[in-house]
Amino acid sequence: MDMNQILENLARMTKPSSIKESSGYECEACCDFGYLWKLNEFPKECGCNLKKMNDVYLERSSELFAEEYKDFTLKSFIAKEQFQKYMLSAANNFLTKTGVFSILFLGQSGVGKSHICIAIANELIKTGAYV
Ligand SMILES: [Zn+2]
Repeated sequence: MDMNQILENLARMTKPSSIKESSGYECEACCDFGYLWKLNEFPKECGCNLKKMNDVYLERSSELFAEEYKDFTLKSFIAKEQFQKYMLSAANNFLTKTGVFSILFLGQSGVGKSHICIAIANELIKTGAYV
């Protein structure tokens, strides 16, 4: 966004609401800029910005996760063995408890490490986390 566009957006945002025309922007409050500007104040982040960032994160994450992995959830993880039930419990704790910042799964091939890690990533992506 160049300076002219910023000035145009500022002028549009400072018009009295009675003469505001439909701008065509998704967010009328910030004209899709992501920040609210007022004279003599620091810009404030607009509420629409979080959604925009989540969309960016989702797009970036989708580059990492192929379509076939999108349905990998903790509910679809089949825990037959006791250690797999522990993996599932650890994954749920990781997602729900505060103060848990990392998780590590070690084990032989085919026990579900990838499935459960992708499921965790999918859950995090839904919250807007960058994975
Ligand atoms: Zn906005």
